[in-house]
Amino acid sequence: MRTVDLLIVGAGPAGLSAAQYGGRAALRVLVIEMASVGGEMLNIDRLENYPGHGPDSGAAFARAMRAQAEEAGAEFIAGNVQSIAENDTGGFTFGFDDYGETAAGAGRLQAGAVIIAAGADRKRLGIPGEAELYGCGVSYCAACDGPFFKNKKIFVVGGGDAACDEARFLSRISPNVQLVHRRGVFRAQNTVAARVMNDPIVKVRLDTAVIEIKGAQKVESVVLQDVKSGKTSEESADAVFIFAGIVPRSELAAFSGLKTRPVLDAAGFIVTDQCMAATETGIFAAGDVRSSPFRQVVTAAGDGAIAAHSAAKYLEDRGR
Ligand SMILES: Cc1cc2nc3c(=O)[nH]c(=O)nc-3n(C[C@H](O)[C@H](O)[C@H](O)COP(=O)(O)OP(=O)(O)OC[C@H]3O[C@@H](n4cnc5c(N)ncnc54)[C@H](O)[C@@H]3O)c2cc1C
Repeated sequence: MRTVDLLIVGAGPAGLSAAQYGGRAALRVLVIEMASVGGEMLNIDRLENYPGHGPDSGAAFARAMRAQAEEAGAEFIAGNVQSIAENDTGGFTFGFDDYGETAAGAGRLQAGAVIIAAGADRKRLGIPGEAELYGCGVSYCAACDGPFFKNKKIFVVGGGDAACDEARFLSRISPNVQLVHRRGVFRAQNTVAARVMNDPIVKVRLDTAVIEIKGAQKVESVVLQDVKSGKTSEESADAVFIFAGIVPRSELAAFSGLKTRPVLDAAGFIVTDQCMAATETGIFAAGDVRSSPFRQVVTAAGDGAIAAHSAAKYLEDRGR
């Protein structure tokens, strides 16, 4: 059984920052990432609101964060943490799919403390055609799929920062981009919303909902509803990019192997105290997975630093 001091689940900005601070606190830190190191940062074309940084791509920022964490002594492996249980020594045992990069082996890992920095998934609209046409014109990632729709008719759905930013990103790929939001005002930060409202290419349609996506093999049209009048109309479309919010990846916190489980808020985000502690037993949470009023790279990185600092103190208090 391999033992580390601190296991970090997820290598987005929260996990990467925690890894650096954990390493600098002389903890044996292992970060397990199931997809790509960087998390959602990899989808940020221009990270321009991180204080003192850039603007540069989110991917470049992620590489720098990883290098800093490794320099501080943190180790990264590819794998999917699937289970967590408290063990007899007051720490945790993890079950995970080791993607084969190391000899860690599934189910052969324990840690004195854990930081859940697993982020969040994109929320689905749940409308007809969305699931059926996913990958055939329906997408949740402009950076990944936008280039397939050069000069095509693109609808972007949502009213937060991501929807506004991604509509502007897509307007560099096609001159035919419409941003559809079901409310009369954007949820996005004022500067972000103002930029898209003033964008000469993006056509903004407020009080409008996409209620169906149609097409045989690929997206061919969308059915729109005027939220105020209830009137519907169908318009041709080649792609629909959906940014309708996020759903936390907080399954580990609810795992049955835990005697003391973190509390989740009504939307499923992990509730922590100001030290990022989710329980008094060594479970911490950081970043988008955490119940918080604001979710950005900078807040995730801040959470990660606090979580690692708190985890180090927790372990020290227990003589580890
Ligand atoms: C399109 C888009 C644009 C954005 N633009 C900006 C911007 O311009 N500026 C800004 O500040 N913020 C922006 N954000 C928000 C920002 O990206 C997030 O707030 C931030 O990445 C959250 O960091 P995180 O570490 O909590 O989660 P994530 O970045 O989501 O990382 C979590 C990681 O955990 C991994 N993981 C999950 N479960 C497991 C598991 N069981 N085992 C192993 N690994 C696991 C995931 O694969 C993922 O890599 C944007 C978000 C999106 C979607």
